[in-house]
Amino acid sequence: MSEQDHEPSRLNRRQFLKYGAGAGAAGLLYSSGLQARALATKSRIVILGGGAGGMAMANRLSRRLDGARISLVEPREVHHYQPGWTLVASGVWNPEKTMRPNSRFVPNGINWIRQLAAGIDAANRKVELEDGSQLDYDYLIVATGLQLNYQLIDGMSPDLVGSHGIGSVYASIEGATRTRDAIDAWIAQGSGKGIFTAAPTPVKCAGAPLKMTFTTLSRLEASGRREAFQVEYMAPGDALFTQPYINDFVKQRFDDQGVTRRHHYRLSAIDPQARKAEFTFVGPDSEFTSHHELREAEFSREGERKVVTGYDFIHVVPPMSAPDYLKSSDLIAQDGPFRGEWLDVDMHTLQHNRYPEVFGIGDVIGAPINKTAASVKAQAPVVEANLIAQLQGQTLPRRHNGYTSCPMITGIGKAMLVEFGYDNDFAFLPSFPFIDPRDESWVTWVMKDRMLQPAYYAVLEGRA
Ligand SMILES: Cc1cc2nc3c(=O)[nH]c(=O)nc-3n(C[C@H](O)[C@H](O)[C@H](O)COP(=O)(O)OP(=O)(O)OC[C@H]3O[C@@H](n4cnc5c(N)ncnc54)[C@H](O)[C@@H]3O)c2cc1C
Repeated sequence: MSEQDHEPSRLNRRQFLKYGAGAGAAGLLYSSGLQARALATKSRIVILGGGAGGMAMANRLSRRLDGARISLVEPREVHHYQPGWTLVASGVWNPEKTMRPNSRFVPNGINWIRQLAAGIDAANRKVELEDGSQLDYDYLIVATGLQLNYQLIDGMSPDLVGSHGIGSVYASIEGATRTRDAIDAWIAQGSGKGIFTAAPTPVKCAGAPLKMTFTTLSRLEASGRREAFQVEYMAPGDALFTQPYINDFVKQRFDDQGVTRRHHYRLSAIDPQARKAEFTFVGPDSEFTSHHELREAEFSREGERKVVTGYDFIHVVPPMSAPDYLKSSDLIAQDGPFRGEWLDVDMHTLQHNRYPEVFGIGDVIGAPINKTAASVKAQAPVVEANLIAQLQGQTLPRRHNGYTSCPMITGIGKAMLVEFGYDNDFAFLPSFPFIDPRDESWVTWVMKDRMLQPAYYAVLEGRA
């Protein structure tokens, strides 16, 4: 399937710049209007988390509601543009480029509480804060993103990233920077084995582990000694990506670029000093898809087959879940594929399945796909409209179609704009007539490199 069986999009540099400018920095990736009038209310609204989803909701609601008492619970002073982390770890961006003060985005007139939420008493509509105080709410928006569970890999901790040949783009911006250094050190060594892993759970930006493999392959090829390096990709399931066309494409491309793929293995332990990794064969019975049912409790390894292998560089992708404070609340899913691990919302209305005054947005929700900032952009108007309808006792007017987008970097300087949603076996939902999601192009690379970040900040500001 390396041969493309369709007409590639024919767009020259001049046309692209014209379209790009017209689309208003296009990325994240189409424009939605905000024309509705303000609604008078004295409701107490608490937003947990001020990342992409929480900040977008704070801005939207503060504009739409007149008189509401809105609290934003977010301990960080700095906002991190996480979609830039793959570019940092690939040596393309400086880390500073990904950071902005949160004060730039927090709207006037809301109560910014610089603390962590420590618990939720959903029956009594209370949030517990880390200092022991409590916040009452009439409506709650949960937007605290997801938790990286490095501790589920024996011997692994995010502090190890950057030492002993260990990289992990997810750990933090410092982790992404140290991942770049670890890749640099491996390439400078002139030979050796690199292992790229994936997690046996849903992860944010499911393309990120693949992007790290592709950009590293570009760098190995550029070193002129590609044949001296072994590259392996260890996947917990049969699939490498949810979207079927892209899944086939990536597998074929890995095969073409000499990446050894092994399926149904998860990283279960690491010995940093010895530079050895243990993988557990989870087998086709626990087939991984992004809507899998593999539970933390089922990470038991007794009687399972293991492979221990040495490495010179390893890219670690931790298992992920909703944060602990949410897992121990009644808002967590009680059954179905997301039980015990993710927020229990209707994946179309984004309203909690059991507490109608609660909504969720972003990485924290239980949904088969959607852990991207692009999804947050699509979800924010849905949560806004549905929460305002709920507040007025009306039927919820909007539904999220699962839209998600990944600029799948297939090498340094080229990418594919993969946009898809829940329906029709994750069929493509392209935003632009001039970009075919099946094409690799510098156009999409330029979008990722230059245009998505301003569009992302527009989402935070509630302007897109
Ligand atoms: C390496 C990488 C590459 C990515 N690439 C892309 C990409 O190319 N395209 C794309 O669209 N998306 C990408 N993403 C995903 C995107 O960044 C996330 O999907 C998006 O940030 C999700 O928004 P969120 O609001 O749910 O979570 P976040 O933006 O992570 O925000 C969560 C916020 O909650 C706060 N918080 C956490 N716990 C608590 C608590 N207990 N109390 C109060 N506050 C709390 C945190 O401080 C944080 O500010 C990437 C992510 C990573 C890590």
